[in-house]
Amino acid sequence: MVDLDSVVTCPECGHRATEIMPTDCCLYFYDCTGCGKLIKPKPGDCCVFCSYGTRPCPPKQTGACD
Ligand SMILES: [Zn+2]
Repeated sequence: MVDLDSVVTCPECGHRATEIMPTDCCLYFYDCTGCGKLIKPKPGDCCVFCSYGTRPCPPKQTGACD
């Protein structure tokens, strides 16, 4: 069972937002709903949820992430 909700914490302003993650792809870019900045993953991470979310993205959870 894959959990799709993740709380993303913005590295720029610290704003936290609960987002529903897409199951079939990694979300590389994320617009912060607090400061409006475009957030990218940390080097080595496949998506913003892996870098800044409370749980890794669905492909990572299921082992399907390249
Ligand atoms: Zn922000």
